[in-house]
Parts: sequence; C-alpha cells; structure tokens
Amino acid sequence: MYPDVLLHINGEWRKAEGGRSIPVINPATEEVIGTVAHASRGDLDAALEAAAKGFRTWSAVSAFERSKIMRKAANLLRERADRIAPLLTQEQGKPVAEARMEVLAGADVIDWFAEEARRAYGRVIPARAPGVYQLVVKEPVGPVAAFTPWNFPVNQVVRKLSAAMATGCSIIVKAPEETPASPAELIRAYVDAGVPAGAINLVYGVPAEISEYLIPHPVIRKVTFTGSTPVGKMLAALAGKHMKRVTMELGGHAPAIVFDDADIDLAAKQLAGSKFRNAGQVCVSPTRFLVQQKSYDQFVEKFVAVAKAVKVGNGMEEGVTMGPLANERRIPAMEALIADARQKGAEVRTGGNRIGNKGYFFEPTVVTGVNREMRMMNEEPFGPLAMVLPFADLDEVVAEANRLPYGLAAYAYTSSAKTANAVAAQVETGMMTINHMGLALPEVPFGGVKDSGYGSEGGSEAIEAYLNPKFVSQAGL
Ligand code: NAD
Repeated sequence: MYPDVLLHINGEWRKAEGGRSIPVINPATEEVIGTVAHASRGDLDAALEAAAKGFRTWSAVSAFERSKIMRKAANLLRERADRIAPLLTQEQGKPVAEARMEVLAGADVIDWFAEEARRAYGRVIPARAPGVYQLVVKEPVGPVAAFTPWNFPVNQVVRKLSAAMATGCSIIVKAPEETPASPAELIRAYVDAGVPAGAINLVYGVPAEISEYLIPHPVIRKVTFTGSTPVGKMLAALAGKHMKRVTMELGGHAPAIVFDDADIDLAAKQLAGSKFRNAGQVCVSPTRFLVQQKSYDQFVEKFVAVAKAVKVGNGMEEGVTMGPLANERRIPAMEALIADARQKGAEVRTGGNRIGNKGYFFEPTVVTGVNREMRMMNEEPFGPLAMVLPFADLDEVVAEANRLPYGLAAYAYTSSAKTANAVAAQVETGMMTINHMGLALPEVPFGGVKDSGYGSEGGSEAIEAYLNPKFVSQAGL
C-alpha cells in the first residue's frame, strides 16, 4: 500500500498546515496512488526554527556517537529495503530489483559517511614562535537546505543527508513531490535510529517557492542541489547573492568513446546496459556514442540488438528491465528531440515512439546519421535515447567530447594504455570511466565541471563541502 506522505519537522511526522496535499501518480498506470503534504510558509518557518535548534543539538553530539547512530540508520534501511523498493517503483517507475539496489546502495552510502564522520580531522601547523599552537579545527557549516530530484529518490537524498549528518550539520530536505515516499522512508530510518528532533527536516511543495524562501534565509548556511543546469544556475546565483556555500550536481551529455582497438561487443553491451538503466533518466547516462570508423557498423549492430532486447513494462512485473519514464512531461520532451533529428536527416535505427497510451512508456531508441545542428546533440535527453556517430582519430573525438558546455561523466573503451591516458587527460569531465562501469561509489568523488556544476557528492571531498576550517592560534600564558 502506498502511503499519504507527511512532512517531518522538529521530530514529528505531520500534515501540512491547512492540510494541503499534492497527488502522487504511478507513471506505469497513470493512477493516483497517494498524496504528499504540501508545505506552507508556516511549515517552512517551523522547519527553519527546528533546523536552527537541531544544529545546536546535533553538532554537540560527538563524532563517535553520530557515527553509531548513522550505522544504525544504515542497518534499518537494509532491513526495510524489501518494503521500500515497491514504493519507489510505484512512484518512480524503475524495475523493483533496481529500486531495491538503490535502497541498499543508500545504506552503503550511510555506512561510508558514518566512517568518515570519525575522520573529519583538523591539523596542527608549525608556529613561528615557541609556545604557539596553530590549530585548524573543522566545524560543521550549519543548517543545510538540500533540493533533490525524482530520478533516484533515495540516492539523491542519501548523499546530501549523510554528509550533513556525518559532520554535525542539520538539514532541511526538499525532496521530490513526484516520488516522495521512498525518500521519506530513508529519513524514517535516520529518525528511528535516534537522530534528535530538528536535525533532519523534510518538506515538499512548490520547488521554486521553497528554494526562494530557504536559500536567502539567515538560518541556512549551505545549499545543495541536484537537477537541471538552468535551475542550478538560478539557485547558485541566489545562493551567491546571500553568500551561502553551494554544491551543484547538474545535467550532463556524456560522451562514450569507443576506439577501434577496444573489445567492441563488450563496449556495446556495457554501454547499452548503462544507457537504458532507469530509462536513461540518469545525469551520468552515456548519450553521445562516438565510435571509431572501422568499428562503427559492428558497434551499431550490437548496440541496436541490446536496445531491442530491453523489456519495457511496469517495474513491478517480473522480468521487466526498463520501466516507464518517470513523469508525463518526459514523453513530449523525447518526442520533440526525435522529431527534430528526423526532420534534419537522422535515421532512427530502433525505437523512437511512445509505447501505448497508458503509462509513460517509451521505446529504447538508437539514432544514427546525427549532426551538431540537432537538438539531441546539444541538449540533455534525460531519457532512453542514444545517438551514435563515427570519428576518425583522437583529436577529433576529444574536440567533440569537449564541444558541449557539460562536463559530468565520460566513458571510453580502448586496449591501449597510451590512448586511455590521453583520453583521461584531455576530456573535460568530472568523472571518467575506462573499459568498465566504475562511477558513483560512495568512496569516490561524484561531481562535474563546466555547466555540470561544482563540488563533489562522494569521497572525502563530499565531507569537506559540509565543513568550515577554523584557524585558532594560541600562545601559552
Ligand atoms: P526541472 O528543471 O523543472 O526540475 C529538475 C529538478 O529541480 C526537479 O527535482 C525539480 O523539483 C527541481 N526544481 C525545479 N525548479 C526548482 C526551483 N526553482 N527550486 C528548487 N528546485 C527546483 O525539470 P524536470 O522536468 O523535473 O526534469 C527534467 C530535467 O531536469 C532533465 O532534462 C534533466 O536535465 C534534469 N534533471 C537532472 C537530474 C540529475 O540527476 N542531475 C535529475 C532530475 C532532473
């Protein structure tokens, strides 16, 4: 049973002031499956007050104790994964096995940050005079406002929340209205593990109204956002105006570069698997498939075969490997990109259409004969859409990879160490994975460059983003 999802403010699960709510739609059936509370200005004020108090309480808890509570939250999440996964599938669409993996991966993220909580070391800097101690102390930045999207409803929250909890920050999470129940369950695991009232607050509502109120508010000291580049730029500008620390994890248009000396079948199989995961609604999804001339036909053939074998359907059904798009607006977005490319001469090798008229299902789509005038070659498709084009040599492919203002993820396949080094050095990207799928583990950096944003949501860098260094110089009396 899908719940009516509540706000969590100051340690209480509660309805919105005035009882307003928003319907939640199952993208596989288009049915309303529940509601989510719609926060009012009064609710936001209550969340801000709670976050200010929660910061004082939580930052005073020792790192050792915080770490223990976090590990308990991770265990609760693991125990509840089988119950949370179907909620995630019903609200977001992805196959239930993938939803379960997302929840379990969330528990791993919590564990990793719990360990790092105990290692937020400062340092001692040698002084110029005897008897002087120069200390660098790492302090939590303060109450955080986090804005997260609907493509990975648990994963997008857990990275921000766990970094905040590890460092002793409090947080107000504005989780996605389309997919509210699974992030609420993540927060329930933390609350049940013993995080004190006010340390974690959860709201939903009109995203722009909430961000415009929270970001400038003096209680909030840090802003973290995952979503599209245009919205990220707006929020970063607002945060800049009010001098707030910022982490921005924005869009991408990842190049996947396959050289002639690679294992072409392996590359096609792995890249296609990655492309159609979560129906392509992944910020690091490979999108421009750049294949060296001699291998182009072989790659396209294999890639199209894998695309055709994807089983699209309701994520609750056994054997389904790709669910519907997560919301209705993704359908016209896909259709417009494909119509534009067709009109400019592209060939759709497989897919290209909505499936049926109930549920937001879309065919895994592979397009060739593309050029740089086409919208899909410039805009993030955020859907099950792959475009494949040939290249001649390293210089040409690096220029194409770097052509767009995005720089989030990049993929390459080659059996030459020299080529691997060159491509890793020359592609402007926050993350590069070569000859395998190696992104997004808790212990490695996760973030982009250029219009894909700044800051990291993984690795030790993710902890630093929630800490201020305080310098203390002390002379003996
Ligand atoms: P959108 O740009 O309207 O919203 C993207 C996300 O930002 C949503 O979660 C939304 O709630 C939030 N948002 C929008 N305006 C906001 C505001 N003023 N303040 C705070 N949050 C705000 O687009 P959409 O239709 O939801 O998604 C489509 C596009 O968003 C995709 O094409 C993709 O580029 C991007 N997106 C990226 C990611 C990612 O993981 N980087 C995730 C989801 C969506």
